[in-house]
Amino acid sequence: MLKIYNTLSKKVEEFKPIDSPKVGMYTCGPTVYDYMHIGNLRTLVLSDILLRVLNYNGYRVKSVQNITDIDDKIIKKAKERNEGIGEVAKEFTKYFLEDVAKLNISIEDIVSPRATDYIPQMIEYVQSLIEKKFAYEKDGSVYFDITKFPRYGKLSGISAKELKTGTRGLSDNYTKDDITDFALWKKDDEFGVTSPWGKGRPGWHIECSVMSQANLGDSFDIHAGGVDLIFPHHENEIAQSEAKTGKKFVNYFVHGAHLLVDGAKMSKSLGNFHTLSDLIKRGFEPLALRYLYLQTHYRQEMNFTFEALEAAQTALNRLREDISNWGKPKVGCAEFEERFLQAINNDLNMPEALSTVWELVKSDYPTSAKAESLFKMDQVLGLNLGQEQKLEIPEEIMKMVKEREELRKIQSYHLADQMRVRIKKLGYNVLDTEKGSLIKKL
Ligand code: AMP
Ligand code: ZN
Repeated sequence: MLKIYNTLSKKVEEFKPIDSPKVGMYTCGPTVYDYMHIGNLRTLVLSDILLRVLNYNGYRVKSVQNITDIDDKIIKKAKERNEGIGEVAKEFTKYFLEDVAKLNISIEDIVSPRATDYIPQMIEYVQSLIEKKFAYEKDGSVYFDITKFPRYGKLSGISAKELKTGTRGLSDNYTKDDITDFALWKKDDEFGVTSPWGKGRPGWHIECSVMSQANLGDSFDIHAGGVDLIFPHHENEIAQSEAKTGKKFVNYFVHGAHLLVDGAKMSKSLGNFHTLSDLIKRGFEPLALRYLYLQTHYRQEMNFTFEALEAAQTALNRLREDISNWGKPKVGCAEFEERFLQAINNDLNMPEALSTVWELVKSDYPTSAKAESLFKMDQVLGLNLGQEQKLEIPEEIMKMVKEREELRKIQSYHLADQMRVRIKKLGYNVLDTEKGSLIKKL
């Protein structure tokens, strides 16, 4: 039984889909105006793990993740570069798709609607909210009146009354726009499209309501994103969606905590960010980053350091190296598989799932059984555990290993042993196998 923390109830709840075994899930995707940083990618890996855990439990999941390809930031970038909005969006969509593929995010299992393909539906949606008297037009823009929706604040705990009267001090970095009636449609004579209210373009929140409901129906199971989206983004999505349909919008909201650098949120505006390409340039494998993410529970903030990434890379290499010497996968180890399932089903406890993996590796089960279980677990971990481990061995070590092989051939075992000790001092271990010398980093 899968249990997951629901931001709506602030509790870990048993997961019950609306129409089991089908599950509908929506994740707020990127705004394609720049490279993703590894904070954004942490949230996307969380969504991927959730999708894999649902699949592992036998659910049939439709996972939707939008791409916001029209927005203030994209327009700004296009102006700076003297390019079209479409060109900027296309370029950064390409980089985004490359990054997610490198992190083994199952993008081929995700429906990726583009905001610009849904403009007529967005206009209709806004019209319907005006007809239902939840929204009003002012100077060519349309706003949602948050006082008309009594349940406003049910997700974030921030009530419309407090916001409107200014009795709640918002210390966070919300703008004034966030805490008043929010824009469903923004007047824009320069880049806008024709609408009943003049030229304009959709607000950010309406995009997600329209694209999620168009693909998953009025009510669906899971909505995911980073914690910074709880307010105002997801609060506003709930308000406009439930005001329009009169139905509950989403049953489970799942939010991932931030990636930090020196205690501060990694963000473009603070300039304290790294991209996946930065890490690759420094010689790390993208999946080492995935391993690093898995070591911290998704509801805990995670401080990024290169030392931790280095350790994750080493652990991942060791894991693959160990497996590469094992027998062919046969009947798995039920005991460990059960413990792994318990961990992932307990609010996606991936740190515990990883320690189960290591206990299994070190256990006395036959290697063929361990291999069977580990490859099964890797359906969720997504670490390519079967990947051939390419260990970069310094030339000096290779020379000593060759010499040692020669010594063994002439049965100078004593000298061969001495050579092994010298190699060990340089940080490598040599094992004698049927296939020849096997070199491992210590
Ligand atoms: P943005 O590009 O800021 O709209 O963010 C895209 C997604 O990444 C959202 O789900 C954010 O919540 C998430 N996000 C942004 N910064 C971080 C961070 N430092 N750590 C984790 N997730 C983040
Ligand atoms: Zn969204």
